[in-house]
Amino acid sequence: MSKPNIAFLGLGIMGSGMARRLLSNGFPLTVFNRNPDKTKSFAAEGAAVAGSPREAAAKAEVVISMVADDDASRAMWLGERGAFAGVRPGTVCIECSTVTVDVVREYAAAAREKKCEFLDCPVTGSKMHAAAGELNFLVGGESAVLEKVRPVLAVMSKTITPLGPTGSGALVKLINNFVCGVQVAALAEALVLIERSGLDRGKSLEVLTNGAPGSPLVKMVSTRMTASDYTPNFLLKLMAKDLRYAVQEGKKSSVELETAAVALKRFQAAIGANLGEKDMAAVVETLRGR
Ligand code: NAP
Repeated sequence: MSKPNIAFLGLGIMGSGMARRLLSNGFPLTVFNRNPDKTKSFAAEGAAVAGSPREAAAKAEVVISMVADDDASRAMWLGERGAFAGVRPGTVCIECSTVTVDVVREYAAAAREKKCEFLDCPVTGSKMHAAAGELNFLVGGESAVLEKVRPVLAVMSKTITPLGPTGSGALVKLINNFVCGVQVAALAEALVLIERSGLDRGKSLEVLTNGAPGSPLVKMVSTRMTASDYTPNFLLKLMAKDLRYAVQEGKKSSVELETAAVALKRFQAAIGANLGEKDMAAVVETLRGR
C-alpha cells in the first residue's frame, strides 16, 4: 500500500494542508467538502472531486476525515451519503478530527461490519504543521492496520505515536487539548492582569514566556494576544468543543476536570461575544472588555 487511492473528507484549515501534502506526494486523491468552493483549487491541482463522502469512498483504499466535531464527522461517515455506505471491503478508514471516544468506537464497529479497518488518528500541530507535513498523529487501533497506512500518514507527519486500542488516540488528544485550553485561558487572565495593573507588559511577559510557564503554546499565543492578531490558526469555537468533550470524557472515569470546566466558561463567553470564528487567542478580548 505505498500509493493507495485516497478519499479525503474535509478541506478546512487542517484538512486542506493535509490533502495538499498527499497530492504533492503523488497519491491519487478524491476530495469532498461540504462547501464545494473549497474543492476548486484541488481540482485544478489534479484531485478528483466527489459530490458526497459516499461517492469519494467508493474508489478509495484509504478514507481520511478531517472535520470540525462529532456532528460534522457523523455527516462524513454515516447515513445514506456517508463514507461507510460507499466503502469496499478492505478499505482503511481513518478519523483525524478531534472527536469523542464514543464516536470513534461506533466507526470501528461500522468498519468491521463492512469488512474494513479503522484507526482513530487525531493530530497535534496546527495550520503550518499541516501544510508542511509536520503533524503528530496520535493513533488508536491495531498496529497491523497502522503499518498498512504508515506511508500515507508519513507524508503528513513528523511523528506517529501508537497509543493503544480504538479510542486511545481520541482520548489522548482530548486530554492534550484540555491542558492546552487551560493554559490559554490562564494566559488570557494573566495578560489582562498585567495590562490593568500598569506593569511593563513586554518585560512581564518575558518573565512568563522565558520561565517555567513558557510552554511552546504560551509563547505562541502570547504573541498573538499582545498583537491582537486573531487570524485563524485554531478556531476559538473548536477549542471550546475540545474542552467540552474532555469534561465529558473525564466524567466517564469519575474525574471532574474542574480547570477544564472553568476554561470552557471563558471560551463560551468569547463565543457569546462573536469571537468563535477567530483564533483561540481572541479569548483574551472578553477579559479586556472589548
Ligand atoms: P475548520 O477550518 O473550521 O474546518 C472544518 C471542516 O469541517 C470544514 O471542512 C467544514 O466544512 C467541515 N464541517 C464543519 N461542520 C460540518 C458539518 N456539520 N457537516 C459537514 N462538514 C462540516 O477546522 P480545522 O482547524 O481544519 O479543524 C479540523 C479538525 O482538526 C477539528 O476537529 C479540530 O479540532 C482539529 N484540529 C485543529 C487544529 C488547528 O490548529 N486548526 C489542530 C489540531 C486538530 P465547510 O468548509 O463546508 O464549512
